[in-house]
Amino acid sequence: MSFSPSIAAPLDTADELASALGAARSGSFAELGSAFFTRLPAAPLPAPYLVAFSADAAALLGLEPRIAETPGFVELFSGNATREWPQAALPYASVYSGHQFGVWAGQLGDGRALSLGELEHGGLRNELQLKGSGRTPYSRMGDGRAVLRSSIREFLCSEAMHHLGIPTTRALCVIGSDQPVRREEIETAAVVTRVAPSFVRFGHFEHFYAGEQIDALRALADHVIDRFYPQCRETPDPYLAMLPQIVARTADMVAQWQAVGFCHGVMNTDNMSVLGLTIDYGPFGFLDAFDANHICNHSDTQGRYAYRMQPQIAYWNCFCLAQALLPLIGAHYEESVRAERSVADAQEALEGFKARFAPAFERRMCDKLGLSDVRPGDDKLVDRLLELMHASRADFTLTFRRLAQVSKDDARGDAPVRDMFLDREAFDRWAADYRARLALDPRDDATRREAMNRINPKYVLRNHLAETAIRRAMEKDFSEVARLAAVLSRPFDEQPEFEDYAALPPEWAGTLSVSCSS
Ligand code: AMP
Ligand code: MG
Repeated sequence: MSFSPSIAAPLDTADELASALGAARSGSFAELGSAFFTRLPAAPLPAPYLVAFSADAAALLGLEPRIAETPGFVELFSGNATREWPQAALPYASVYSGHQFGVWAGQLGDGRALSLGELEHGGLRNELQLKGSGRTPYSRMGDGRAVLRSSIREFLCSEAMHHLGIPTTRALCVIGSDQPVRREEIETAAVVTRVAPSFVRFGHFEHFYAGEQIDALRALADHVIDRFYPQCRETPDPYLAMLPQIVARTADMVAQWQAVGFCHGVMNTDNMSVLGLTIDYGPFGFLDAFDANHICNHSDTQGRYAYRMQPQIAYWNCFCLAQALLPLIGAHYEESVRAERSVADAQEALEGFKARFAPAFERRMCDKLGLSDVRPGDDKLVDRLLELMHASRADFTLTFRRLAQVSKDDARGDAPVRDMFLDREAFDRWAADYRARLALDPRDDATRREAMNRINPKYVLRNHLAETAIRRAMEKDFSEVARLAAVLSRPFDEQPEFEDYAALPPEWAGTLSVSCSS
């Protein structure tokens, strides 16, 4: 196998793919050098098989779907093929640190992830990363593996989030094996391949800040700026200029999470992307019955990462990032005022979070209510609806979807959404105010409905849907994973044959528990 830098897409074989991944590309993370990562092959995964494949993610990379049927594909994305790769082209595990549950955790790193390299297609460059590919120098006490259950959850959710229009890492495929892996019970191993322009986390910056490795910190910042925020170069302080960019993307991402009822579950600073992508799917969950205090991660006993906490935690995480960037900020100031001025500048950049999040969330919620502009008092209308939903534990997804049936002129269309509430009179009072507000909106019912149905999904990855697909996959029937992925790839469309997938969760779903152990 050769490692030539210019392979024309589309790539047909796994060998071509491996060559393209191994090609040296300027500006890639791999250029940063050995302070940032360790190169090593994946651990052998015995008798691997294909569990799931996203043709959509493949298309992003310029890969034809038929590539998934080749034996070379499974060899590559199980990690097994990497044992034949030359040292200089080996995959790499990166080092980072972070705050876990609000506490400084020191060095972490890719304990079970390996980046294979980058692919370029259609002017976009994406890094491909195996997760669950065995131990690395950063595994600490872990076994370097991921189980089938969590790999399927990550695969389904990353692709579902993408189709909901929420910034996220993508997932190309899941490769399974019968190799046993010990968690609370014995499960089996799997490797999920995820795709993103970059996997750099807030924790990467925190790592070099904490270690007082300022040259490395600067090299990392230069990499992120040159590659992803080049406009910052035109300012007197590019490192400072990058901060509000990341803050804004993070605020926008969390506004979208809140508006769709997505709970991440482990918003540690090492799970925050500097591109504002949703990353590291673990014990995440979509809200079924709306509880603003919902905690999706059963290991989160204090509720630090409860649904309603997510915006302020994101802000707190941005604060950690700002702190880590401080040694780079303010180089253009005189030495005597530099410390003071750079703290003030960083604080101002952080303030941007609130200035960005509130209107982004309000805009989205007004879209969900079918209001074509945001007017004074709309925030109260949204808050009152959320309070009623909370009091009734109304299903988040169904309530918003059914809201589209409310009509401007009379209450005849109210019944489906009204049924979601226990206190019907309270709902009627809200609906009367909502109708009064709709009367001020220029759009007619049909146009508004159409717009609402493009923002309020009918289908989200409810826990019980993932669970059903996982149980079938554990019996080697992967058809439900594919079916569910297909349904979730059109979350806003009516899909009458899949009406069940939009229904309230069955009673057994109430007992499902998701923890960090994956
Ligand atoms: P997470 O909470 O999944 O974001 O993981 C926190 C840290 O632990 C990361 O550095 C992971 O790479 C690492 N980690 C999690 N699970 C494992 C595992 N099974 N083996 C090795 N490292 C792990
Ligand atoms: Mg993580």
